[in-house]
Amino acid sequence: MSRNNFSGTEVKNYWWNQFSKPFVLAGPCSAESPEQMREVVEKLAASNIPFIRAGIWKPRTRPGSFEGMGAEALPWLAELKKEFNVKFAIEVANPHHVELALKYGIDLLWLGARTTVNPFTVQEIADSLVGVDIPVLVKNPINPDLALWLGAIERIEKSGISKTGAIHRGFSSLQQSKYRNIPLWQIPLELKSLRTDLPLICDPSHITGNRDLIANVSQKAMDLNYDGLIIETHPNPPKALSDAAQQITPEVLIDLLGKLKMRDSSFRNSFSINRLEEIRHQIDNADQEILEAIARRMRLVEEIGHYKKDNNVAIFQLERWKEVFKSRPEWGDAMNLDKEFILDIYRQIHQASIKSQTEIFNGNGEQDG
Ligand code: PEP
Ligand code: MN
Repeated sequence: MSRNNFSGTEVKNYWWNQFSKPFVLAGPCSAESPEQMREVVEKLAASNIPFIRAGIWKPRTRPGSFEGMGAEALPWLAELKKEFNVKFAIEVANPHHVELALKYGIDLLWLGARTTVNPFTVQEIADSLVGVDIPVLVKNPINPDLALWLGAIERIEKSGISKTGAIHRGFSSLQQSKYRNIPLWQIPLELKSLRTDLPLICDPSHITGNRDLIANVSQKAMDLNYDGLIIETHPNPPKALSDAAQQITPEVLIDLLGKLKMRDSSFRNSFSINRLEEIRHQIDNADQEILEAIARRMRLVEEIGHYKKDNNVAIFQLERWKEVFKSRPEWGDAMNLDKEFILDIYRQIHQASIKSQTEIFNGNGEQDG
């Protein structure tokens, strides 16, 4: 399979293409009881959800909260798998989890955000996967570090796993946000641009932490040409033993999936939408540079304002401004910029400059009308 293919038009036979788009993993944050699992599996299997997710061992922030049912829950899954002919996906955080997952016939494994941050653990898991043929998805690390995320995927691949993928679950941040984990969309999009051969799956549940925001973030992921979604689905969300605020019922999930607007499928595996984001990112950087240059110019204007005041020189120097208004459009013209456009910008700059110097002449803080 070729990597880094930027041509974008050819639809490759990637492992996840066997599932219709979006590739969906749904199921509870945690497997809590045989009854809870049965109820959710019954409904999701009837709607042809390709993978049922369930947390068996839960990485909790503080001790004392529900830490998952552990190995006890694996036979429930094995039983339901036989009965409903479904596929299961669980999180593994160490080689022992891998061993048990394989023993109970789990079909797909993922590495959680807290595992991806630790290359030692990722390597131990990778070593335990040698000789195994199972898809392994890697969640982004909790910190916004693209190289660490890619590195974890590469460790898994080096152990011989060929079906890999990336889950975007957002990033921990002190920044105020309506989200539990800020998405920082440019990071997963950069990952996808480097590795078009990986499915990129959005986890709106852990990004939002809030069931009311899940539909929006799922749609945004589709607009950005993500390949799949992993959504926490519980038969009775408010009663969930973990992540109650972000889980939705199977009915709400099915409704949400039915309402998703899928973008032009000819873009599948294409680079076009990523390219759009990439160009916008560069535009943002250019704007940042423009604003920094304007701020630097305004500081120089202040400096000259003080100098003029101290030396009793008039603010407005006709010859100087004639020169500026003549030269700037010419400089712009040499860069293929419209002269009238540049003149307009300099009229604004001139006005701001006069205003700033007038304030200085009038004494600090005093406004000139
Ligand atoms: C989960 O998927 O339930 C989970 C613990 O997620 P994350 O690793 O993204 O925090
Ligand atoms: Mn969860």
